[in-house]
Amino acid sequence: MGSRWLLRLGLLVLAGATWAAAPTEPRIPPGYQPADDRDERGLWDELDEYEQSLRRSPLLVDDPQLNAYVRDVVCRIAGDYCPDLRVYVLRNPGFNAMMAPNGMMVVWTGLLIRVGSEDELAAVVGHELAHYTMAHSLQQFRHVRATMGLGTLLSTGVAVVTGVFAPIGELAALLDALAFSRKQEAEADLLGARYLQAAGYDPRASYTVWESLLAEEEAAVVARDEPLPFMRTHPAIRDRLQALQTWADAQPAPAARRTRQDRHRRVLTGLYFELMEDQIDTNRYGRTSFLLERHAELGVDPALIAFFRGEMYRQRAGDGDGERAAEAYLEAIKTGHAPPEAFRNLGYLKLKAGDRDTARQLFSYYLALAPKASDRAMIEFYLEE
Ligand SMILES: [Zn+2]
Repeated sequence: MGSRWLLRLGLLVLAGATWAAAPTEPRIPPGYQPADDRDERGLWDELDEYEQSLRRSPLLVDDPQLNAYVRDVVCRIAGDYCPDLRVYVLRNPGFNAMMAPNGMMVVWTGLLIRVGSEDELAAVVGHELAHYTMAHSLQQFRHVRATMGLGTLLSTGVAVVTGVFAPIGELAALLDALAFSRKQEAEADLLGARYLQAAGYDPRASYTVWESLLAEEEAAVVARDEPLPFMRTHPAIRDRLQALQTWADAQPAPAARRTRQDRHRRVLTGLYFELMEDQIDTNRYGRTSFLLERHAELGVDPALIAFFRGEMYRQRAGDGDGERAAEAYLEAIKTGHAPPEAFRNLGYLKLKAGDRDTARQLFSYYLALAPKASDRAMIEFYLEE
């Protein structure tokens, strides 16, 4: 009997002990309505009001394919709770998903460009649903309402939603108020993983999703990017990952495993251009670079990967970045199906470097490929010069 086996046994016992202590029966039944006390009713009313304004937000993603996909995953996981939930996909490059006690679920597009599969998306949804069914979200929002007022939370929440990446310092108080306890996290992990398994998804997605998030955080530290707010509201991910892995690896493979990698990739590809533009605009190069490598592994079109690598370098504009960007645009163009913007942006770089002839040629290609481009007049002006 090797020491590795003993180590595994030790981890199993440890994980078992942690999890046995956590009550995992949901406290909120399907079809739940707020208790008839003024406190909870008032909380719901305030949240409903906020939700009304959210419905009119210009940041709501209205792409029908994406919405249908996310709703479908949520309903598979939520089962009997499905009719109680409303799902909103918001355009924000951060990683976040949250569920309010009134059944409003908000998913940021930054989550969609970070999960590696439908199973991993389902894992995050299962975890958030568990916070709701265990009444953690209710406790959390009650606490925030009593201490700082829900108005502050929601207006700052709107800032979180609209401000792309607000400086972490300003958000710290809010995020700390929203953070779940370790006990709540352990409960949500266990129940969420069960939801995942019951819906026929791969139980291992319950921890692989955090593995890649931690890998991104490491890349971000090296590049001195700020940590994701999600890491602050969901503490101790490293320890939890270990417990989830021990549990998931002991589960039988799902009988009819849903390998819907194709659906995830198709939906992601459909909106890739917009979603990655948002990511580029965050100026978090460590993260962007990490994500591009990951997307290449997931099978995203190499033309798009190369184009956005070009965008990343062009935006950073440090020493040698002009050459790196030009090389990446050229790589995109060589695939034969680069986005027209690859020609235009390489044209700008050539113009800057004084190579007017090549720039002119590239601008002409751009206009030929995108005759209705909104910047046509400006490009024509360059061509005439
Ligand atoms: Zn959590």
